[in-house]
Amino acid sequence: MGTYSGKNVVITGGGSGIGFAIAQLLVDGGATVVITGRSPTTLDAAVDQLGPGAHAIRGDVSSVSDLEVLAGRLKRDIGTVDALFVNAGIAPTTLFESTTEQAYDHVFDINVKGAFFTVQKLAPLLVDGAGVVLTTSVANVMGLPGTSVYAASKAALRSLARTLSRELLPRGVRVNAISPGPVDTGILESMMNHEEAAQFKAERVAENPMRRFATPEEVAVAAAFLAFDATYSTGTEFAVDGGVTQL
Ligand code: NAD
Repeated sequence: MGTYSGKNVVITGGGSGIGFAIAQLLVDGGATVVITGRSPTTLDAAVDQLGPGAHAIRGDVSSVSDLEVLAGRLKRDIGTVDALFVNAGIAPTTLFESTTEQAYDHVFDINVKGAFFTVQKLAPLLVDGAGVVLTTSVANVMGLPGTSVYAASKAALRSLARTLSRELLPRGVRVNAISPGPVDTGILESMMNHEEAAQFKAERVAENPMRRFATPEEVAVAAAFLAFDATYSTGTEFAVDGGVTQL
């Protein structure tokens, strides 16, 4: 029997990076884990790597109809959910002056609207005692150039952790947030060119008390703790950031 045997888990954006590391930790511990994402190729490769406890459902979190389909399939296939990791997100850097309305809406559609409706559509499946973990970011309490839209989206998510935790408390559901500092997952390279990413990463290492990035596995351990073990914590945000927002 693994630590998470008999537990049903859903991880949005679980095909890569932090979400994948959470999935690996929980599958290895015996959980049934459903990962979601937009790319069938990425999802199939992730499920192959994760092993028999992992399953994938394709869907875009910014589409409420995709989230309704996800909820319907989860209800049919696994029935109930013990832990929900609202992890899908994008992290583009855009200069304040040149940020377009479309770019702004794209970030908020995925990072905020996507997270809100993920919780709303899946809430009926959450068991008494379930844990919801939202992936925020240290950006929500920092003032990093080029991150105004992203940081504001994560600050909105941090706020949701507080309000949703109050609203779901009568059902025995806890809602917390995990706030990663820099994690080397490739998300920066997917959002900016190679040189910009290298410079951004060098700056993050230089300012960090631990002088390094986190591994996705270091974030996964903390996220799993919030979902399953932190039974007297709700509405909180846990920083996994090398101390950059604390020291
Ligand atoms: P990642 O790009 O590997 O993971 C993001 C995942 O979200 C991907 O699997 C992607 O396919 C999925 N996704 C994006 N848009 C989606 C959509 N519309 N619908 C469904 N899935 C979608 O990068 P990561 O670093 O693992 O990021 C995971 C989370 O951690 C994000 O919310 C990110 O903002 C947050 N975060 C990352 C860092 C970091 O330094 N890597 C720091 C703080 C916060």
